[in-house]
Amino acid sequence: MIAITKPIVGDREKELVVEVMNSGMLAQGPRVKELEEKFAALCGTKYAVATNSGTAAIHASLAAFGVGAGDEVITVPFTFIASVNPILMQNATPVFADIDEKTFNLDPEKLEEKITKKTKAIIPVCLYGQIYNYEKIKEIADKHNLFLLEDACQSVNAKRGDLMSGACGDMAAFSLYATKNIMSGEGGIVTTNSEELATKVMRFRHHGQGPDVRYFYHELGYNYRTTDLCASIALAQLERLEEVTNNRITNAKYLSECLGGLEGITIPHIDENCKHVFHQYTIKVDSEKVSRDEFLQKLRDGGIGAGVYYPKPIHLFPLYEKFGYKEGDFPVAEKMSQQVVSLPCHPSLSREDLDTIVKSVKDALK
Ligand SMILES: *Cc1c(COP(=O)(O)O)cnc(C)c1O
Repeated sequence: MIAITKPIVGDREKELVVEVMNSGMLAQGPRVKELEEKFAALCGTKYAVATNSGTAAIHASLAAFGVGAGDEVITVPFTFIASVNPILMQNATPVFADIDEKTFNLDPEKLEEKITKKTKAIIPVCLYGQIYNYEKIKEIADKHNLFLLEDACQSVNAKRGDLMSGACGDMAAFSLYATKNIMSGEGGIVTTNSEELATKVMRFRHHGQGPDVRYFYHELGYNYRTTDLCASIALAQLERLEEVTNNRITNAKYLSECLGGLEGITIPHIDENCKHVFHQYTIKVDSEKVSRDEFLQKLRDGGIGAGVYYPKPIHLFPLYEKFGYKEGDFPVAEKMSQQVVSLPCHPSLSREDLDTIVKSVKDALK
């Protein structure tokens, strides 16, 4: 089986983790601080604040914006549920806007009509590793005075124009979950240029304390801290970020060269001036010519660990349907959930693996 993902754990991760174990300082400490400094430098932001998951990073960001009951937050229905659930955690109202069929990201044309007096923030997602249409969406956010939170959980090291992922908004939230492009088992990071927002996130992850004075509780917070053990894994991963990113891009390029122009499928689109980091290499199956589910089954029978991200849009789950959403509300998201197939593209694939994937796709289309 050629797996859809394969976490890389090298000697460096083990070495750094053992150092922490021997130090006796297992919780949040100097390694977390080092990770935050290196991550901020990578993204070109003034601050980075580590958390114990991407979900916690999104939740803390919304809290830092002051999102609460009565506020509306706009995001996309075609994403992992963790992009959206933090809106409910803050007792705010989720409002969906449809995606663009080419990039799978928030369609700026669909955004403005969703803005009301109650809108407080927008969460565009950098799905599969490509940054959303920052230029247009930032313009709309500024015009209406809205906070912009980039869900960068899939887009570490991606770039759009001169901006790195993490710098495309007022805040950004990354995930270091085991299958992400770099990881620490579980983990997350918030980036921002605002000292005020960074301080709020530091408090939110630490029961409202600090960042300096202990046992003084400024506001409600959670325990969203990560550990020096996890930060050590992430630091070792960061050392090979360029290499693993380049491998993903090279693999994606090869797949697109081999699969481009085949009848029945569409290869991923890359926006102009974008560095797409291919957390997923996602093709679209033309459902009028080929059944996606049969295509997927054939790939899996042939030993290709293909995946569907995501088989059902968020607005059709009971948690969100109760806000009045129903089938037909977001035709592009609904169509994409029927058409997408992600093929293995991770950095450990050999040329032989890639050729096997290409052959299996061609066979499955026959
Ligand atoms: C992984 C992911 C998250 C959540 O990250 P966790 O670390 O698993 O909590 C949020 N949004 C998107 C788009 C993701 O892919």
